Amino acid sequence: MQNTAVITWHGLALSEVYAATESSPETGLTGAEAAGRLTQFGPNALTGKKGVSPLVMFLQQFNQPLIYILIISGVITAFLREFVDSSVIFGVVLVNAIIGFIQEGKARRAIESLAKAMTSEATVVRDGKKQRIRSADLVPGDLVVLQSGDKVPADLRLVSVRELQIDESALTGESVPVIKQTGALPPETVLADRINLAYSSTLVTYGTGAGIVIATGDATEIGRINRMIASADVLETPLTRQIARFSAVMLYVILGLAAITFVVGVLRGQTMLDMFMAAVALAVGAIPEGLPAALTITLAIGVSKMAKRNAIIRKLPAVETLGSTSVICSDKTGTLTQNQMTVQEIATGDAWYEVSGVGYEPQGAFISQGKEVDASSDPALRECLVAGLLCNDANLVREGEQWRIEGDPTEGALIAAAKKAGLSRTALLGKTPRVDAIPFESQYQYMATMHGGGRGQKTIYLKGSVESVLARCSDMTGAGGETLPIDKESLLGRTGTLAGKGLRVLAFARKPVPAETAAISHDTVASGMTFLGLQAMIDPPRPEAIAAVAKCKKAGISVKMITGDHELTALAVAKKIGIVDEGPVDGRAQVLNGRAITDTADVDLVVRAAHTAVFARVTPEDKLRLVRALQAHGETIAMTGDGVNDAPALRQANIGIAMGITGTDVAKETADMVLTDDNFATIEAAVEEGRGVYDNLIKFITWTLPTNFGEGFVILIAIMAGVTLPILPVQILWINMTTAVFLGLMLAFEPMEPGIMERPPRPSRRPVLTGTLIVRIGIVGAMLCAGSFGFFEWVMQSGRSEAVARTLAVNIFVMGELFYLFNCRSLQLPFFKLGIFSNTMFWAGMGVMIVLQVAYTHLPFMNAAFQSRPISLIDWALCIGVGIVIYAAIEVEKSIRNFIADRRNKSSIKG
Ligand code: ADP
Ligand code: MG
Repeated sequence: MQNTAVITWHGLALSEVYAATESSPETGLTGAEAAGRLTQFGPNALTGKKGVSPLVMFLQQFNQPLIYILIISGVITAFLREFVDSSVIFGVVLVNAIIGFIQEGKARRAIESLAKAMTSEATVVRDGKKQRIRSADLVPGDLVVLQSGDKVPADLRLVSVRELQIDESALTGESVPVIKQTGALPPETVLADRINLAYSSTLVTYGTGAGIVIATGDATEIGRINRMIASADVLETPLTRQIARFSAVMLYVILGLAAITFVVGVLRGQTMLDMFMAAVALAVGAIPEGLPAALTITLAIGVSKMAKRNAIIRKLPAVETLGSTSVICSDKTGTLTQNQMTVQEIATGDAWYEVSGVGYEPQGAFISQGKEVDASSDPALRECLVAGLLCNDANLVREGEQWRIEGDPTEGALIAAAKKAGLSRTALLGKTPRVDAIPFESQYQYMATMHGGGRGQKTIYLKGSVESVLARCSDMTGAGGETLPIDKESLLGRTGTLAGKGLRVLAFARKPVPAETAAISHDTVASGMTFLGLQAMIDPPRPEAIAAVAKCKKAGISVKMITGDHELTALAVAKKIGIVDEGPVDGRAQVLNGRAITDTADVDLVVRAAHTAVFARVTPEDKLRLVRALQAHGETIAMTGDGVNDAPALRQANIGIAMGITGTDVAKETADMVLTDDNFATIEAAVEEGRGVYDNLIKFITWTLPTNFGEGFVILIAIMAGVTLPILPVQILWINMTTAVFLGLMLAFEPMEPGIMERPPRPSRRPVLTGTLIVRIGIVGAMLCAGSFGFFEWVMQSGRSEAVARTLAVNIFVMGELFYLFNCRSLQLPFFKLGIFSNTMFWAGMGVMIVLQVAYTHLPFMNAAFQSRPISLIDWALCIGVGIVIYAAIEVEKSIRNFIADRRNKSSIKG
């Protein structure tokens, strides 16, 4: 095949398209031809925009106000011939940039690899067979089948469409879907008007179609404009933005203070040089420079922990929001249940049958009134099974001893049931081939197929929810195959009985149409159908979902079921899973159905939605209204979805969750998080991780601020009091750099605390630092400041050198932070309740820190660089003593708070 770029594809007639691509509308390419073209044209993947180059990323590390300050002071100190100081400053700047560069790179890679993990698939026809392949393996000439919900995998020239509509906003920015057609267009037609083409990365929002691939990878239109579709590559969340704003304000305050310090000092007669160094020390000490990097790392660690538990984060802020989730709205089928359907009961117009057998294995019998029935001599039963078999897009395949389905499990169950009666789809389709179909869509709740052949007539089979099918029926088939008047009341009653057992009920109907009918539409099946029967299938709950729902309840998160299924089915399943309480409660109070939702005004829905746990026969529009109502009630909502029409609700929810297995590309594209196993338990796991991540973020902040606070005050007080600086700028740099990396950062590896799912969700409006933490930060900051200042003065009084006194002051800060790190492993619990060795990184970091600090104190070259001096064992003991005092003080503070909180809880329970 030739270069495809030069051809004006939209101007070609279909026959010319097939000729140019050497492809066929029936069989597509052969596997061999496709393999050859794959080597010729390369994989269908975008090389993507070049990321920021490593050099630029490295240089960006210098683009921070603190670094400017350091560089300027480095230059000035060099100018003042303080070469040791100046090289230490430059050394620190460089090391800081390298660490930042490595960490940022790691965080980015963690997130990028997730984006890559979500490989997309496409449906193609090759060798005459429909198959799913990786989108990357598509080649020009491939015949691709599209259906609503798909992402178009390559640029296509459409060859057949059925009400096909495509959202091309990814390419054109225009969000109104384009209605597609197949006819040739004038060659001069502009890109946006080429309605016989479908472009890679655009989304099919309605209908179905097929097209021949005309360009892949970078040769596609999206590849040419080289715009990657938005994914989780922005390292920013509400919290990091809040911190960035906070830091910016801090910066000005601190620079202001530094300037004042400088002026006051000079007026008091200190030298300019000393005062300049003091101002730098103040700025360096008081600015929490490690904070942004630590936040990013903690978030990245959270993302990969969640990925290990099958939750792929697509948008980084979700990591944080998950922790404050107060309501989870979950689909029923497949998420809370196993999606392992087995037909257990069948009801025709005037008879009942039980169906034996387990799973998809087509072995079992039909039993009516205690006797086994031969389906071939029971026309009503047989036709009901035939309808289920023909009005069906799934396949039942045997793998060794195992039976597996391809496609919708609901349909798989119908095939298994029909096979138990010895029916063969191949044989039936041989006599009455399928000529047209209306695919199942949840908003219509039915599917129809039309079959030719037979006595000069065509037959339409319809299957769907009982309500939607009965509304279209005017009579029914009796046990002897005769036509009877239909009794909808009693059929609805039967449905209620079946649904009350938690079974999923489908109704079946049939209608003959004239042979010349070429296609079916929703109008064709609007009336005049003959009811055949009901098939009721069981879909057992997922055991892990039951456990997860219980955990959510403990954690103060309410779980709501949202389903397209019958209200009684939904209620029965909800009871089994524990979403609503067992027992004879009035169903109406716990279930709200689609009609009721539609009839409830927005204002009233706010309260009703909050108090209802099960929503049945829900349409996608209802879902959107429900999310809004619950949000108006002040909730933070995680909501699942899989279809195209779920996209608005997923977007509106605080956390939109798409199904990785059964979800459409459209849903995944909109979602904040994707479940690779479609399992409710995974949502609960992600919430748990989300709480853990947020905890760790707060722990880091609580740990780091007292140091900045303490150091800032040490300098400020020294200057104001006109005494020697207890700590020099380079020493402050040393403290901040080493402790942030080897102590603080270890909090990012802190595992989840016990009881993390036993406390209520964090209110989304709660400020980052609560009053409790601000007080704690104040206490520790004050103790660090007093300890290091006090001992510095004590050493000075005792006649030892300034350098020794400073070494002691530095060591007190480091030891104080080290012991305070024990406190910060949990904000509420005492340290020993966490499992002493549950965070090995914590101990490793401590070890390194101690070695470094001993080196700082005792190695000659360190003494030269930092003006430190060896200290005695007693001095060391004093430093450790200060650390222990801080540790003990905070543990006492924690336990007093816990005691008060307990008392308050108890009295509120009594009262
Ligand atoms: P959910 O996924 O929440 O269980 P759906 O929207 O898939 O709900 O289904 C709603 C109703 O539509 C079901 O109760 C069933 O009666 C009917 N239904 C489900 N799947 C199919 C299908 N493949 N063909 C026809 N009808 C279906
Ligand atoms: Mg469904």
